[in-house]
Amino acid sequence: MKITVAGTGYVGLVTGVCLAEIGNKVTCYDIDEQKVQKMRQGIVPIYEPGLEELMKKNIAEERLFFTTDAKTAYESADVIYIAVGTPENEDGSANLTYVEEAALAISHYVKKDTIVVIKSTVPVGTNDRIQALINEHKLPGIEITVVSNPEFLREGSAVYDMFHGDRIVIGANDERAASIIAEINKPFGIPIIQTDIRSAEMIKYAANAFLATKISFINEIANICEKVGANIDDVAYGIGQDKRIGPHFLKAGIGYGGSCFPKDTKALMQIAGNVHYQFDLLESVIKVNNKQQLLLYTKAKEIFSSLRGKRVAVLGLAFKPNTDDIREAASLVLIQKLLNEQAEVTVYDPVAMENAKSVLGDSVRYARSAISALAGQEVVFIVTEWDEIKDIPLSTYVDEMKEPIIFDGRNCYDLKEVEKYPITYISVGRRNII
Ligand code: NAD
Repeated sequence: MKITVAGTGYVGLVTGVCLAEIGNKVTCYDIDEQKVQKMRQGIVPIYEPGLEELMKKNIAEERLFFTTDAKTAYESADVIYIAVGTPENEDGSANLTYVEEAALAISHYVKKDTIVVIKSTVPVGTNDRIQALINEHKLPGIEITVVSNPEFLREGSAVYDMFHGDRIVIGANDERAASIIAEINKPFGIPIIQTDIRSAEMIKYAANAFLATKISFINEIANICEKVGANIDDVAYGIGQDKRIGPHFLKAGIGYGGSCFPKDTKALMQIAGNVHYQFDLLESVIKVNNKQQLLLYTKAKEIFSSLRGKRVAVLGLAFKPNTDDIREAASLVLIQKLLNEQAEVTVYDPVAMENAKSVLGDSVRYARSAISALAGQEVVFIVTEWDEIKDIPLSTYVDEMKEPIIFDGRNCYDLKEVEKYPITYISVGRRNII
């Protein structure tokens, strides 16, 4: 199959590389010249474990190509995936400009029957609208059929997920197009669920909203645990053993972030609102998360009357481990609060420093390692549970900081271990060690 993938971000590039790996000839198209230049040389512009090896291999085996030329990309493709961004509008709705631009370019350049697969997360009804837009602008006499194929990969394990995901969802109103897309996906060896287009679109939003709900739920329980003297880690384990609940996504912390949960939950609120449905549960999930992202700051303010001039370190900037993505990261919310209070902030992240620099500029100091970030600090905030951060021996805090005060937003340390050291330790949903 000759496949084009439009958009080479976290989803598009992984999709393109993995479709090449299973034997397709894939052209990745992006409007970002610099990005495409890099990828042509085998450089992956994002941090995603395992991606670079696979990308280089498929370039060398001449199954993977990169272009900024829309004509080359679209003209003779059998199947075109749209994987461009759908960021949040100011009112919380999904911004579909990039999807529409891609669809218009496809209508303009495609000269033969083609299937357009929408991988971007788009509100229910969008695939139908894009089909209508394409029908209006395409050449007469050819068929361009839109199929919905939402993506469920997780940043940080995206390549693994492409080959080991739980399901592939294909939403189509055209049986033939659906079976061609199912055939393309067969080598991944993942169960395929076929639905109508609108159900496929809804599956994506419902899945993300449900996961966000689990996170906000456990965070609320954690906040109560603190007040009643229970331990959230034991409580989460205890409820997770119930097969009806399951053990996943029950880790208390300082809320969800990233490029998906925050924007997709808000977009689903809009989708519901557009049909005059008040989604009370999801509204609370979002509200709880906004509160939870401020938890460490709130706790710090309970201890210090002022943070002015305090030397603080923030360990972990990415919204979760194993990615360089800092979009909607809890770290940014915390750092902004600390800067507003005129604290002296030093930050460290194993891979997200460059992205952080583009947002934080010179308002903070950038440390070269976790250890050097700790040196001489009065307070440390643990925000992202990278292994490198979880593995810092407790003795290191004692050695590097005068009288260590740790606010741990990810419960990285065992309370009994912490008690062996002269450390003030405040975590989430567990007793404080003061
Ligand atoms: P991204 O911001 O990382 O990448 C988007 C890319 O699209 C950029 O490289 C941009 O230059 C390119 N682009 C924009 N307009 C274009 C056009 N007209 N033609 C070609 N390229 C164009 O986005 P992402 O994180 O990969 O997300 C893409 C979509 O997948 C979104 O809808 C997102 O919600 C969804 N999604 C993301 C994830 C995730 O973990 N990131 C997971 C599942 C689904």
